[in-house]
Amino acid sequence: MPEGHTLHRLARLHQRRFARAPVLVSSPQGRFADGAAAVSGRVLRKASAWGKHLFHHYEGGRVVHVHLGLYGTFTEMPLPMPLPVGQVRMRMIGAEYGTDLRGPTVCEVIEEAEIDDVIARLGPDPLRRDADGSPAWERIRKSRRAIGSLLMDQTVIAGVGNVYRNELLYRHLIDPYRPGTQIDESEFKAMWTDLVALMKVGFRRGKIIVIRPEDDHGAPAYGPDRPRTYVYRRAGEPCRICGTEIRTAMMEGRNVFWCPTCQT
Ligand SMILES: [Zn+2]
Repeated sequence: MPEGHTLHRLARLHQRRFARAPVLVSSPQGRFADGAAAVSGRVLRKASAWGKHLFHHYEGGRVVHVHLGLYGTFTEMPLPMPLPVGQVRMRMIGAEYGTDLRGPTVCEVIEEAEIDDVIARLGPDPLRRDADGSPAWERIRKSRRAIGSLLMDQTVIAGVGNVYRNELLYRHLIDPYRPGTQIDESEFKAMWTDLVALMKVGFRRGKIIVIRPEDDHGAPAYGPDRPRTYVYRRAGEPCRICGTEIRTAMMEGRNVFWCPTCQT
């Protein structure tokens, strides 16, 4: 699943390629036909993101709200676009570029005022310029749930996915099963500051870079063209710092990875 930095990069790309000009919007697959008709031909004012939610703001107050979920993708291309292939929920065509959206969990037209309802259900987004971690801390300090699951809860912090969750906990030597009530404020503050910095790197570079330069050696990454990780998808391999076997388990439907020696 894409993490928040991917949505912020999409917002920036769509802003550069489509904003301040009329956009043709269609639904080749048909499932978004009414929504597309409601905004097609209008000027896209701007594109923005909050956590894993993307918003296309059109003149006149309508907004296309997209959540990619596990399988959603945008395919960007210069004009002229070829005929749609597969299940294209939404096709946007601007002056020079187009994009096809396939497989989103959410693709709907809402009113500008309804964005607040979406955001009200989300925690602070580390990538927003005005991001403030304190609402997340208020949730975490009172919760007996495992910090590993709290970090993935979009109502606590918006935009964190499985890679940042696992790697952040390793970087701060925190066991993913430790309850929120046993996290110190200083630990949370350090994690939040680090998360903001890590996600900004992800936004700038277009990939998740989580390993400190001094640890960026040894066994290769879990996949081709992927940066090294401390624990993510390294189950059974030795910890890069202490050599203990990295463990994995299911936590609320997603794999959690940790070093049982380093993380307490
Ligand atoms: Zn270790």
